[in-house]
Amino acid sequence: MIFAANLKCNHTRASFKIYADVLNKTMGVKCDDIIVFPPSIAFLESQTNFIQGAQNFYPCINGAFTGELGKEHLDEFGIKCVLIGHSERRILGDETLIKAKFDFAKEHNYKIVFCIGEDLKTKNSGKTLEFLKSQLDIIDLNYKNLIIAYEPIYSIGTGVSADIKDISSVLEYLTTLSQAPLLYGGSVNENNIKEILSIENCGGVLVGSAALKVENFIKLIKG
Ligand code: PEP
Repeated sequence: MIFAANLKCNHTRASFKIYADVLNKTMGVKCDDIIVFPPSIAFLESQTNFIQGAQNFYPCINGAFTGELGKEHLDEFGIKCVLIGHSERRILGDETLIKAKFDFAKEHNYKIVFCIGEDLKTKNSGKTLEFLKSQLDIIDLNYKNLIIAYEPIYSIGTGVSADIKDISSVLEYLTTLSQAPLLYGGSVNENNIKEILSIENCGGVLVGSAALKVENFIKLIKG
């Protein structure tokens, strides 16, 4: 199972160092199924027992892109994993280069956690699958380092995860499009993780709020 933590705009360089130290000690050895996306200012140069991923990057090596982060900057921290298409970035209007980012990350062989998810209006109109397919149409679904995270927008940060049957039918549908591991994200916590991980076709979780404290993230990993 894959356990990914999206720390969003939380944690400083100092507090993430403590987070990573605790997680490193708990894991003991390198574990490729644990991914943490800290804010970029907090990236660690030292080796970690988890995969360190970037919440955002600009599809360039370097250049005249004020305020952005290119591959050269990720390389300094050994980062080979990126998050693309998170709904919070899509909603803010900051995620306008999804295809370019995907193609760049693929070209450079990054592990890509690609987020998709519908809002409540789309869900209620019965167009979820059609909508998700349209979000996936722009990327290479056969890319070997792809992980797809299904994160219904209406369940992110609300404390209430999506209905198990809904998650299950979406994941089943996604298996017809791609062989990539499928994660569920949206208010995963210690009370619902067991049931979510027991869904057929669920290959793990992408966790926000419940992973902000390292002790809580470890509880989720340990089950
Ligand atoms: C997320 O931001 O990807 C997420 C799933 O957040 P939360 O767990 O807080 O719903």
